[in-house]
Amino acid sequence: MNELIGRVFSFETQEFPSRSALYEKLATEGQNPKALMISCADSRVVPEHIMQAQPGDLFVCRNAGNIVPPYSQSNGGVSATVEYAVVVLGVRDIIVCGHSDCGAMKGIANPEALGKMPVVAGWLKHGHAAAEVVAECYPHLEQAEKVRAIAMENVVAQLAHLRTHPSVAAGIARGEIALHGWFVDIHAGNVLGLDGESGRFVPLREDRTLPVAVAQTARLAYDAPLLEAAE
Ligand code: ZN
Repeated sequence: MNELIGRVFSFETQEFPSRSALYEKLATEGQNPKALMISCADSRVVPEHIMQAQPGDLFVCRNAGNIVPPYSQSNGGVSATVEYAVVVLGVRDIIVCGHSDCGAMKGIANPEALGKMPVVAGWLKHGHAAAEVVAECYPHLEQAEKVRAIAMENVVAQLAHLRTHPSVAAGIARGEIALHGWFVDIHAGNVLGLDGESGRFVPLREDRTLPVAVAQTARLAYDAPLLEAAE
């Protein structure tokens, strides 16, 4: 048997019993995750590991390239997951997490390599804005650096897509939802966060204010007249 598949038996015999109280609480009271993370499906980037999360802590959506398709008439699994997390679970922090050495970003950088993968090529079109930003604004980069730049610009692009989802847009307007853009460097073992004010990725440090892409601050475009006090 595949050694990995065989490890499932220790979930029943060791893992579950060692956390039985936690699982019982989650099973009877339901889940109340503290954040939604949309990350790449890459096996080297494990959201629960990076966050040191326990069962029940983190609502996770993983796909090739940590993509969030913009809200449209044909919404898929990512859109449904986002809507459920916001509307039903009341998640107030949403993290889009990219990473170094990302195969999906290499595909965006070299679309001709995707010839035998039409589905992947179609999916990665959601990241083409990142490729265009890099092509026009970072024309001097060598291949490895270019892929890294696309991965970071892709996080920016997916955060923009996230804001097209009505549930997220309304949560941001109410000042209840914060958006985070992270980049995990699997070579250096560190995590960078997008600072929405400067537009740059900066290291996440315990002794510094956490950089956020979009802060939990009410944002209303219309300066509505105040309601007259009831007489
Ligand atoms: Zn990846």
